[in-house]
Amino acid sequence: MADILTAWELIEKLNEEKRLSLNEFTCLLENRNSVDREKLFAKARENAKAYFGNTIYLRGLIEIGNYCRNDCLYCGIRRSNCKAERYRLTEKQIMNACVNGHRLGYRTFVLQGGEDLYFTAGKLADIIKSIKEAFPDSAVTLSVGERSTEDYQMWYDAGADRYLLRHETADEEHYGKLHPPELSLKHRIECLYTLKKIGYQVGAGFMVGSPYQTTENIAKDLVFLRELEPHMIGIGPFIPHKDTPFAKETAGSLELTLFLLAVIRIMLPDVLLPATTALGTIAPDGREKGILAGANVIMPNLSPKDVRKKYMLYDNKLCTDDEAAEQKAKLDKRVESIGYRTVTDRGDSPKCKASTLVCPKRL
Ligand code: SAH
Repeated sequence: MADILTAWELIEKLNEEKRLSLNEFTCLLENRNSVDREKLFAKARENAKAYFGNTIYLRGLIEIGNYCRNDCLYCGIRRSNCKAERYRLTEKQIMNACVNGHRLGYRTFVLQGGEDLYFTAGKLADIIKSIKEAFPDSAVTLSVGERSTEDYQMWYDAGADRYLLRHETADEEHYGKLHPPELSLKHRIECLYTLKKIGYQVGAGFMVGSPYQTTENIAKDLVFLRELEPHMIGIGPFIPHKDTPFAKETAGSLELTLFLLAVIRIMLPDVLLPATTALGTIAPDGREKGILAGANVIMPNLSPKDVRKKYMLYDNKLCTDDEAAEQKAKLDKRVESIGYRTVTDRGDSPKCKASTLVCPKRL
C-alpha cells in the first residue's frame, strides 16, 4: 500500500505534479484543518504571480435579463419563483452599459442572464456584433446557459470570445438534487466540450456548500476541472434565496471557499479565477481574501442600476457601492491596499496568448 500522505504533503504533491487522485483530494479536504492557511495561501499566490504578477483583471458584468426557462432549485430567478420581477435589457441598454464600462476602463463585457429564448441566436449575435464593432479592443463573454451547438457557433462567429457555464457539480446524483429532472449533468458537460471545440475560452465552476454536497462531490469537481482544463473557473459559496426550495439551507463557508480557491490555483496556475460577488456577499472583505488565496479576477456590476435588484440569484446579493462598476476608483484602492493592481486589459487566458492555434480569431 502506498504511504499515507499528510494534508500538507498532498498540497506539495499537487504543487509539483499539478494533479491528485479522487481519493487524495478527498483525503486533503477531510484533513484540511491541519493545513497552515498562511502557507497554503502563500503557495497559491506564488503560483498566480508566476503567470499574472500582481495583476487583477476586471470584467464588467451586464445582467441582460432574468427570465429563465429552467427551475434550478438554488436559483432566485428560477421559473417557478413567481415573486421575481422579470426584466430584459434592450440592445440599446446593453450598448449603453458597455459605453459606460469602456469609459471607466473595462475591456471585457460579460453578458449574463437566465435561459431565455427571447434572446434568439440572431438577436444575441446582433448585439455581440454591435459591441465588437464599437469596442474592437474588448472581449465579449457570454453566460446564458445551455443552447444548441448552432447557437454557440453563431455567437462565436459574431465575435464572442468566452463562455461561462458552471458545471455546478460533477456528480450525477448531486446534480439531480440541485436541478429539475429535465436537466442533466451529461448535457451540461457536452455543452462545455462543444464550446471549447468551437474555440471559446471556457469557464466552468461550482457552488461551495450547496445543499447535499459531500466532500467526495467536491473532490470530483476538482478532478473534473483538472480534466476539462477550462480557461476560467468560477467558484463561490452557495447562498440561500428566500423564495426557493433551498430557502432554509445554510450558506457555504468562507473558509472552504478560500481553501478551494487556493487548491485550484495550485492545480491550474494559469487559470483565470474570480473572487466572486457571492464571496463578497458572505464576508465584507471576502473578495480581498479571495485574491490573497489566489484569485485574480473581479467582476463588478455594470448593469443599469434599476435592474440590479431584480437579478437576485440569492439573498442580499451585493449590488451597490463597492460592487458597482462605476465605483472603480474605490475598487482600485481596495485592490491596491493588499498589494495588487487592477489593469485595463482584456486579460485573455495565458493559454491563448501562448498559442494562436488555440484561439485563432480572438487575438
Ligand atoms: N443561466 C446561466 C447563468 C446562471 S447565473 C447559466 O445557466 O449558466 C450564474 C451562476 O450563479 C450559476 O451558474 C450558479 O452557480 C450561481 N448561483 C445561482 N444561484 C446561486 C445561489 N443561490 N448561491 C450562489 N450562487 C448561485
